[in-house]
Amino acid sequence: MSLIAVSKTKPVAAIEELYALGHRDFGENYVQELLSKSEVLPKDIHWHFIGHLQSNKVKQIISFVHLIHGVDSEKLLVEIQKQSLKAGRHVDVLLQMHIAKEETKYGLDEKELSQILANINNHAYPNVNIRGLMGMASFTDNLTEVRNEFRQLKLYFDDARKRLNETMFDTLSMGMSGDYQIAVEEGSTMIRIGSLLFGKRS
Ligand SMILES: *Cc1c(COP(=O)(O)O)cnc(C)c1O
Repeated sequence: MSLIAVSKTKPVAAIEELYALGHRDFGENYVQELLSKSEVLPKDIHWHFIGHLQSNKVKQIISFVHLIHGVDSEKLLVEIQKQSLKAGRHVDVLLQMHIAKEETKYGLDEKELSQILANINNHAYPNVNIRGLMGMASFTDNLTEVRNEFRQLKLYFDDARKRLNETMFDTLSMGMSGDYQIAVEEGSTMIRIGSLLFGKRS
């Protein structure tokens, strides 16, 4: 189980505090904020980009990003491939699935996932390591609903792993401060925790 400390909107000093305790994996949602923090913080931090990434901003983070969690379109994947090749890197990514009831959350549907998996098997993305899936459950007090959504994501994950020829596919990023216990019970391998670690965001 890995723990990503989600430090968005929090000051550099808050990250340094956890870093001093030995933590190295931090998550950020905004490109500009990630750039300014990574510039002043130690280089051995693993930066996770967990927000919605616009294609035109990929090149700004590609040289150092550790894992891009929110790949939610083929267009974005094409751009990540292009920029990774240019940078001479192999970059790890997760495909983001839409599992919540809310329309507002980003992510792929089953058909889009299927198309991407086919293209991966056809070697369309040689510089991109598709490491697994990511998803966000509905923001609701209905814990049965949340559990069902995570369970669905785990099914997509198991199915995708079977379909892929290569087997670096080992990461299921699901669970935040409010629902990580359920996510872990449903098979999460990576939780993204912000407010429980750093306090509420304003
Ligand atoms: C902000 C955010 C988190 C952390 O949320 P908390 O509820 O503060 O733990 C996790 N994942 C994503 C994608 C986020 O945007």
